[in-house]
Amino acid sequence: MRVDKKTVVVALGGNAILQRGQKGTFEEQLKNVQRACEQLAQMVLSGKWRLVITHGNGPQVGNLLLQQDAAKEIVPPMPMDACGAQTQGLIGYMIQQTLHNILDREGRGDIPIATVVTQVLVDKGDPAFQNPTKPVGPFYTVEDARRLRIEKGWHIVEDAGRGWRRVVPSPDPKGIVERDAIKALVESRVIVIASGGGGIPVIRGDGCLRGVEAVIDKDLAGQRLAAEVGADVFLILTDVEKVMLNFGGPGETPIERMTVAEARRYLAEGHFKKGSMEPKVRAAVRFVEAGGERAAIGHLFQAVEILEGKAGTQIVRDA
Ligand code: ADP
Ligand code: MG
Repeated sequence: MRVDKKTVVVALGGNAILQRGQKGTFEEQLKNVQRACEQLAQMVLSGKWRLVITHGNGPQVGNLLLQQDAAKEIVPPMPMDACGAQTQGLIGYMIQQTLHNILDREGRGDIPIATVVTQVLVDKGDPAFQNPTKPVGPFYTVEDARRLRIEKGWHIVEDAGRGWRRVVPSPDPKGIVERDAIKALVESRVIVIASGGGGIPVIRGDGCLRGVEAVIDKDLAGQRLAAEVGADVFLILTDVEKVMLNFGGPGETPIERMTVAEARRYLAEGHFKKGSMEPKVRAAVRFVEAGGERAAIGHLFQAVEILEGKAGTQIVRDA
């Protein structure tokens, strides 16, 4: 008898594709994707899992914005939503090709893989629009910062003494526009890559969808995706082995396993840094609370062990 497969949604951190300190050549990125896909392929080849992949795009969209800034006299720059779409295509392509090549090597080149350019609905009234916090794009001089504020109406703030930088809102994801298309693909045993870079943020107004200049956290968007496809497990892969209590300070302690109630308490106590670990834990909590079996956070290179519950930090229902 064929046992029904479970569904796992895997969120790959930006570092899985472009590591800190690397230049960002295509070859470098493809090599990193290869490491990630070796792990993902094992999950598929085990025969136990239906796989859905999402990923960050911070380094890629950052480079694209730099490129656009440098060439702005020659080619008109694109708005951020369009840049998000471009990086979804680029990263989706790298994953599709690499994962296919690995599966093919193992005699399973027949397994279909597809990337879905994904729009994620955000709320016009989200308080994030009144308080932009996410730094994006190049650093500017104070004169350029002044000019761009007036010319483009951008919010530009000083970024940790490194220069002036544009900040955009980071609204909460409310829904996945391509939800039904993604579900249909997953049900027809297609490995789907979706909601890359947190999805392209769109708002609905006057009956129309419209892209906005914002960045959605990829882990929170990944949770929406996981809920939509009815995932059993939500795996968040990054560059640390475990979530820590008292991160970077005295009494730093790795967490093997925490219940939703414990995670909520640690969140309130401020153990997880905003913009990095905090949204991951919040996304994990939301996933389990919405009926997911288990979420886990850990290092990309231990993905298979984390999925088996033998590594990383496991987030489980309250006893
Ligand atoms: P990703 O690209 O995977 O989303 P992030 O940089 O956003 O990566 O998040 C991972 C980072 O979170 C780690 O490299 C670590 O420096 C940081 N971090 C913040 N708080 C914690 C914590 N409490 N435990 C472990 N890591 C933490
Ligand atoms: Mg992150």
